[in-house]
Amino acid sequence: MTIKELKKLGLTTRLIHTPLQFDNRSVRSHIPPLFQTVNFDYDTVQEGMSIFLGEKEGYFYTRNGNPTCDIFAQLVAMMEEAEAGLSAASGMAAISSALLAHVKPGDEIVSSKNIYGGTRNWFVSQLEPLGVKVIFVDIADLREVQKALSEKTRVLFTEVLGSPDLVVADISALAELTKESDALLVVDSTFTPPPIIQPITLGADIVVHSTTKYINGHGDAVGGAVVGRRELIEPIDDIIKLFGGVISPFNAWLGIRGVKTLTLRIERHCANALAIAHYLDAHPKVKKVYYPGLAGHPQHALAKTQLDGFGGMLAFTVDGGLAAGKTLMDNVQVCSFTTSLGEIDTLIIHPASTSHVSLTPEERHALGISDDLVRLSVGIEDAEDLKRDLEQALEKI
Ligand code: PLP
Repeated sequence: MTIKELKKLGLTTRLIHTPLQFDNRSVRSHIPPLFQTVNFDYDTVQEGMSIFLGEKEGYFYTRNGNPTCDIFAQLVAMMEEAEAGLSAASGMAAISSALLAHVKPGDEIVSSKNIYGGTRNWFVSQLEPLGVKVIFVDIADLREVQKALSEKTRVLFTEVLGSPDLVVADISALAELTKESDALLVVDSTFTPPPIIQPITLGADIVVHSTTKYINGHGDAVGGAVVGRRELIEPIDDIIKLFGGVISPFNAWLGIRGVKTLTLRIERHCANALAIAHYLDAHPKVKKVYYPGLAGHPQHALAKTQLDGFGGMLAFTVDGGLAAGKTLMDNVQVCSFTTSLGEIDTLIIHPASTSHVSLTPEERHALGISDDLVRLSVGIEDAEDLKRDLEQALEKI
């Protein structure tokens, strides 16, 4: 057995020494190649037949499988300590396929109410009309979660760190509850990729990612992934292939390149976010900072035991309401005023004047989005430059 097969290598080494999903003996490509092709050739009719029938391993059509997309899926499975994985066109393709494969009309989903708006929208506008009831709960309140679970519950869905207040889901405790109720625990770990947490090792059944964010990390490729036990992933794979939600080989290739630096990037995102959180927490024009790494966060103790680093996402409120939020946004110079998260540079957004501008203040309030709330996806720049940038922008308020 070689040292590479020993599985004792660290996560960073394993992500850099990418295992390939194809026979590389004739070409010996050092870096995983991009198979930018729709279809694959066969030497004989017999060979083609065997591959189509699944009797022989091989590829025939990229929607049904492509080595580059498979390498990316296997990397995400490996980093999450999962038995199997698949890649998808986006985080939403990953989430919707994972749930469609495991719920049917009459079933119920219990979901954290602090989830990505797109997921919530899909639950309400697409899944409920199919006859699947979604019950939203405060995921930090385990008694409320337990009360919502019933014999109809097929899935308990949560993010590890929920928006906008970075509420921390106790994955081990939720896994215990789902074991009692027979439901699957599905975790969106987009904000918290390894090495921050590996939810499967804490008892989660399925982990989904928008790889668009930290896993790809460079803001240049939309993608998604689902990982878990093989018997749970196979039906999701059928849905991805039949609905056509596959990732493009090029985006998967960018993802493969991105993960090689994932652990380094995450360390820096976490260190910078903690430094910025402390800086903002002490600033006279900042009212409140939401970051699980701060001692004042209601679940700081849980975050400390469950997470390795507190992530790169934080939110804060400024004195002066909507106008102050807008002034801050208009004056940042190093932080980029844009949506999305998990990219190498720091992204800042003021939900009340951008992503949630079409809602009434009451509707925003119900989602926990006050007019003075600002969200930061802290990048890997020099922390001092980020502080200086926020300082000069806060001075203008
Ligand atoms: N999950 C979370 C936590 C997100 O923040 C997002 C997007 O912002 C998604 C899922 C959806 O990902 P995508 O945009 O890749 O479909």
